[in-house]
Amino acid sequence: MLSLREFLRGEHDPEIFEKYLELAKKADEKFRCFTVISPGSGYPVSVKDNISTKGIPTTAGSKILSGYVPVFDATAVERIKKWGAWIIGKTTMDEFGFGTFNTNTEKIPLNPWDPERACGGSSGGSACAVACIEHISLAESTGGSISCPASFCGVVGLTPTYGLVSRFGLIDYASSLDKIGVISRTVWDASYVLSLIAGKDPKDMTSHGEKKDYTSFCRETKLKLGLPKEYFELADEKIGKKVLEAVSVLEKLGCDVIDVSVKLTEAALPAYYIIACAEASTNLAKFCGMRYGLSGPMKGDYNEYFSAIRSAGFGEEAKRRILLGTYARMRGYREKFYEKSLRIRTAVIKEFKNVFRKVDVLCAPTMPFVAKRFDEIEKMEPLDHYRSDILTVPVNLAGLPHISVPFGFVNGLPVGVHFMADHLREDLVISAAWMLERERGEIKYPKI
Ligand code: GLN
Repeated sequence: MLSLREFLRGEHDPEIFEKYLELAKKADEKFRCFTVISPGSGYPVSVKDNISTKGIPTTAGSKILSGYVPVFDATAVERIKKWGAWIIGKTTMDEFGFGTFNTNTEKIPLNPWDPERACGGSSGGSACAVACIEHISLAESTGGSISCPASFCGVVGLTPTYGLVSRFGLIDYASSLDKIGVISRTVWDASYVLSLIAGKDPKDMTSHGEKKDYTSFCRETKLKLGLPKEYFELADEKIGKKVLEAVSVLEKLGCDVIDVSVKLTEAALPAYYIIACAEASTNLAKFCGMRYGLSGPMKGDYNEYFSAIRSAGFGEEAKRRILLGTYARMRGYREKFYEKSLRIRTAVIKEFKNVFRKVDVLCAPTMPFVAKRFDEIEKMEPLDHYRSDILTVPVNLAGLPHISVPFGFVNGLPVGVHFMADHLREDLVISAAWMLERERGEIKYPKI
């Protein structure tokens, strides 16, 4: 396989692209990570299936978008193609990003470390594909969808500050929370790709930022690390211990470590789910059988037609979230649920800002547990699924940059260490993750 650095040096044999194509097919047969695979040449980049790719079917993991082929590229895709990327395929995901295990869709990816376990979600296909074959994946996070699968699959997941990467061409889940980021094998690769895709885009009013070389932050820095005690309390003991091992590695390099408290951790979770579902319930209104994807014979009036298409096209979790979100913003409930959640969000941001006066970077377990088995997931109630996101949701709600980097194993399964920093301090999370990765050494990925 080809590392990004080798590709940049031009050290590849021309047949490598054929080999990649075969590998992608093999990975998909065994672990079900792609929705589409397409031949080409250039550095292989897979793209989560909610990011529009011109001429390549894009379904956001939903039946309601079956048959939809975008006529334009998302800005992130356009930028990476201009650089020389080959879009090798689209990766499977939870429907519209609704999920933590990538089980809320038809094509469920299997974890390459143990196929009886989930890859995590919602960018499960991307993390799975990167664990199977060395390449880059463009992914997306609303409440943790890059970090969670990166942690379960033993790969790097970088989620930038909200707005740093244009959302143009991204199929919205919750517009005020969605962020395009990168899943890769190394921190350097993720930083390189961020340099290509970040920065203001006239097509997205919420985008911002100048061009920057993020790889320059892959360097040793003496950081002040904060360990949020609530996060360690919420994680399995063995996971907490692993993360503390990682912390001591950084301490040996001269980083200072202090204990901190982030009291609104628990409160962030319901606030996130109310805001995310409220926004999703309006964003999904456009899928009604008229403009995109699924359509059928026009029977009855418009309302009857829309209902028939939506009943057939949306999965169970999408329906649940449309109901929950619609309820939360209805007159009479809006004040109690939606507006209260917005106030909690502001308080969460303030609390993080205060913590970042004391420390440069927060370091914690990415997920409270290692990848779960499918039979365990089946027994979980919807609220148990939501609760699994408790460690990734707060930073996402606040729009802060974060990175999950694999460090060691618990019961033979990879563990992710999470670094989180203040808005636009990608430099700090990149430095921390890069140092840890360098000290950790190479990971031996499962053979496919
Ligand atoms: N698991 C969270 C949710 O279902 C986050 C998903 C995401 O980031 N897309 O909302």
